[in-house]
Amino acid sequence: MIPSVLPTYNRAPLHFVKGEGCWLTEEDGRRFLDLGSGIAVNALGHANPELVKALTDQAGKLWHVSNLYEIPNQQALADKLVETSFADTVFFTNSGTESCELAVKMARKYWYEKGQPDKTTILTFEGCFHGRSSAAIAASGSEKMVKGFGPVLGGFKTLPWGDHDALHAAIDETVGAILIEPVQGEGGIRTLPDQCLKGLRALCDEKGILLILDEVQCGVGRTGRLFAHEWAGVEPDIMMVAKGIGGGFPLGAVLAKEEAAFGMTAGTHGSTYGGNPLGCAVGKTVMDIVSDPEFLEGVRVRAGLLRQKLEGLVAAHPDVFEGVRGNGLMLGLKCKLPNVDVVKAGYDAEVITVPAADNIVRLLPPLNISEDEIGEAFKRLDAAASAVTTVSA
Ligand SMILES: *Cc1c(COP(=O)(O)O)cnc(C)c1O
Repeated sequence: MIPSVLPTYNRAPLHFVKGEGCWLTEEDGRRFLDLGSGIAVNALGHANPELVKALTDQAGKLWHVSNLYEIPNQQALADKLVETSFADTVFFTNSGTESCELAVKMARKYWYEKGQPDKTTILTFEGCFHGRSSAAIAASGSEKMVKGFGPVLGGFKTLPWGDHDALHAAIDETVGAILIEPVQGEGGIRTLPDQCLKGLRALCDEKGILLILDEVQCGVGRTGRLFAHEWAGVEPDIMMVAKGIGGGFPLGAVLAKEEAAFGMTAGTHGSTYGGNPLGCAVGKTVMDIVSDPEFLEGVRVRAGLLRQKLEGLVAAHPDVFEGVRGNGLMLGLKCKLPNVDVVKAGYDAEVITVPAADNIVRLLPPLNISEDEIGEAFKRLDAAASAVTTVSA
């Protein structure tokens, strides 16, 4: 008999009943150190007092009115995003995949309104992940994502990662946009080198193509800058955001330059929930905290410390790990043994990590993890690595 929850996930048998900062409490009382943050979502940890206050204050006043009316909280969050980023304008969604939908629609509408309706092709890169909607799975181009769900939405072309020649060869008169994650998350914490992002921007400028960045996972402070592309010193035309921006509340956004958004006039797109007063009250509080330069400096310091610990972990367990990669507090341990075994051993050692493609164990702790907690993370990962070595020996 089919379970009452549609069985599309292989779930670990853990029932968390309470969260506080970087800690999750299981029903049986065990306390787990959370280095996954619900997949890079709980950017400020669990039950963050400032977020709880923002949520509960707003919950007692007004949750939802729809976008038929002006929403001061939404306006405030949009203003904050415009003030702190490349963007001139923002649309709020409820998830990353919805942000992907709009990014794709916006790019196509741009070319349609420019009188070049054939520029519908969007170039993407192997290993990318943009969500699970029809546009997002088509963008991924992977068999695993689209198999059985055809007909697949057309107009995407997936290129090998890091293949310069393939990229140049793919650019014809139908290409309207390039879509890429500055740091691939699900694909296994693969960083696009700064010079490659610079090169992509230059190529887009030269050919008059839109650059769309997916910062759903790597954005909102995760890499130690507010947005990951800032490291390369270039700006996208359109950017997808979600995950961290809501701190646990389902919230996403598409940020765009005025020029890129010019086709999106009244009636061209919508969302019933997107940008509601409750979500934006939380999102504004997250943004106020994370966009503070001192906070971001703290993320970089903590990231350096965690990375150093992980290098030590790799050195101590050469049979388990091959190396560390990633940026800021978006780090991956490349494994020699199956990554899922390491993640499971972590559960026994009461530490939460997240597997990713390419045999990676991902570490995406809350951005405000303390130095003591980083030390504790090392101890627990060390115990997990020792246990997994013993089992496999
Ligand atoms: C998680 C993720 C998405 C999809 O977000 P959902 O909220 O699950 O729809 C899209 N892009 C990237 C880079 C992601 O990490």
